Order: sequence, then structure tokens, then C-alpha cells
Amino acid sequence: MMAKPEDLQEFHWLMDMLETVEVGLVVLDHDYGVHVWNGFMENHSEITASRIKGRNLFETFPDLPEPWLRRKLESVRLLRTRAFTTWEQRPYLFHFRNTRPITGTAPYMYQNLTISPLCGSDGSVQMYCLMIYDVTDMAAGKLALERANDQLSRLSETDGLTGLLNRNTWENLLEAEYGRCCRYGNESVLVMFDIDRFKSVNDTYGHVTGDEVIRRTAQILKANLRHADLAGRYGGEEYAIVLPETPIDGAVVLCERIRRTIETTTVDVGSARIQCTISMGLASMTEDIDSAREWIERADTALYAAKTGGRNQIRVAGQ
Ligand code: GH3
Ligand code: MG
Ligand code: MG
Repeated sequence: MMAKPEDLQEFHWLMDMLETVEVGLVVLDHDYGVHVWNGFMENHSEITASRIKGRNLFETFPDLPEPWLRRKLESVRLLRTRAFTTWEQRPYLFHFRNTRPITGTAPYMYQNLTISPLCGSDGSVQMYCLMIYDVTDMAAGKLALERANDQLSRLSETDGLTGLLNRNTWENLLEAEYGRCCRYGNESVLVMFDIDRFKSVNDTYGHVTGDEVIRRTAQILKANLRHADLAGRYGGEEYAIVLPETPIDGAVVLCERIRRTIETTTVDVGSARIQCTISMGLASMTEDIDSAREWIERADTALYAAKTGGRNQIRVAGQ
């Protein structure tokens, strides 16, 4: 039966649409030979349809995740249903450059993929149609949002001036460490320390310089701690540290080192050279401590003893 001229016309229109649609269309046979390669694929791969038609897809694109794609096609054949993959599961199938002007920062084109079975009149799967959607805009937007959220949550956990944990976060972590010590009998030490005669730094050099001293003291602290130690800014020029799984002798050695480093460091701010000292109070976690708050109070009492004992020194609770 001859096709009517209108049908032919419609067929041409359809072909035109498939050629120009902003979706990649690839038709494969069971041996992964390429039968259809539309304009989108030509533009982004820089391989023309005439060059790739009849050739094996994996030979032309050795970087494709072959075992994975074979499994996908096999399941489409067996189940005779479509299969989907989003960019979040696999960022792309074909490694195409990202050509979007707005999301030009994305390193490559993010793609969603749909694989449809193309069935013959007997219902068996004869070919597979791969549809590749460019979702770079969406992916780049979502990734930027995730990065911003990460940054926000980091900011809400840390103190802006020093980068140490802020008081709230530090106290939550202290609670967790207190619980661990109660359960497992860990040996941990809590340290509170405070810059000596800090009011006079502010009074003499001003608040901005005072802030710089607070920041530099935090830097020295960070440089001396291990990864697992938890250091927070407890108040204005007050710092708090949890040293997990640390015997008191080790904590004393560490704190002495921090105290000494601060004592011997000069902070150069403009024309001023400022030298500060700190007083430190240490408290080991012991069985008779009934709460995290009581643990803090013990370290704070030791700190008070260090202050009244002449400052620039460390004191251990109960000694
Ligand atoms: P002490 O040796 O007894 O600790 O004497 P001090 O002068 O350091 O006394 P105290 O610790 O009570 O005073 C802390 C001062 O720190 C009071 C306040 O003006 C100042 N301060 C608190 N927060 C900040 C801050 O964020 N920046 C600056 N520059 N100063 C602060
Ligand atoms: Mg203070
Ligand atoms: Mg002080």
C-alpha cells in the first residue's frame, strides 16, 4: 500500500523534530550497533550520524560504563519496560562538555537517561532507544544550593572570629563526650582557659586589636591540638577544650605547651607588639561528676585558682 502524501509530509516533520529536539536520541540494536544518532548527539559528541551509524557504540566511546549499560539494556529487554537513571545516580552517560552559558562553571554536561524498548510486531524487544536529557542547569543549581547549605551549617557551628566551635556546638559535643565517658569509662579531660588582664589590652589598644589577640590565641590553640580534640570559644576571651581519651598527665603537658607558646608569642598589630598570658583550669572526668555542667564547674574552679594563684599558670581540679 502506498503512503499518502500527507502521511509522508508528517513523517518528514517528525524526522525533523527528532533531529532538532534538545534531547539526545540514540537507537541501538542487541549488538550495541548504532542505528539512530540525532542532531543533539552530533552537536555534543562532534561525531556525525553517518560516521557512527552501523558501528559499535562501545568501540566508538571506550569511556562509556560498558558493564553498567549492558546490564541496563538487558533488564529493559527482559522486563520490556523503560529504565531511568538520574544525574544524581550517575552524573552522565556520555562525557560531553558543558556548553551552557549560565551554568558554565559545571565541568561537564549532567544528564538524565531514559532507555525505552522498541518492540516488533510480535512484542519482542528489537532495539533500544536511549534518551539523554541535558540537566546541567538543574544539577548545577542543586549542587550550588547543597554547597551553600554546607557552608551555612559550618558557619552556624563555628565562631566567626576564631573559627573554633561556638559555645552551643561545643556544649552539645561536651554532653556527648560526657555520655561516652559515663558509658565506657573513658579518661577525658576538660580544660577552660581565659586570657589574663584582657581588659587592659582592650583599654590600651582598642577592641579591634583585642579581637586580633583573641583570634591569634585561637590559632595557637588549634595548632597544638589533635584532630579529635574539641576546642570552642566559650565566651569573649574564654576558651574551652575537651581532650577525649587523654590521661591528666598528658593533658598537663599539652596545656603547658599551649600556655608557654602564648606567653612567648608577640602579636604585632600596627605599631603595637602585644604579649599575653593565659590561665588554665583542667578537670578529669571522674565517676563522681554527675553532669556535663558539673564537669565544666570543676574546670572553672581550677581556672579561678590559677587566676588567684597569680595567673599565667595551669591548675588541675582537686590538686
Ligand atoms: P582576668 O585576668 O581576671 O581574666 O582579667 P580580664 O581583664 O581578662 O578580665 P575578664 O576576663 O573578666 O574580662 C574579659 C574582658 O574581655 C571583658 C571584655 O571587655 C572583653 N571582651 C569580651 N569579649 C570580647 C571580644 O569579643 N572582643 C574583645 N576585643 N574584647 C572582648
Ligand atoms: Mg574572661
Ligand atoms: Mg580574662
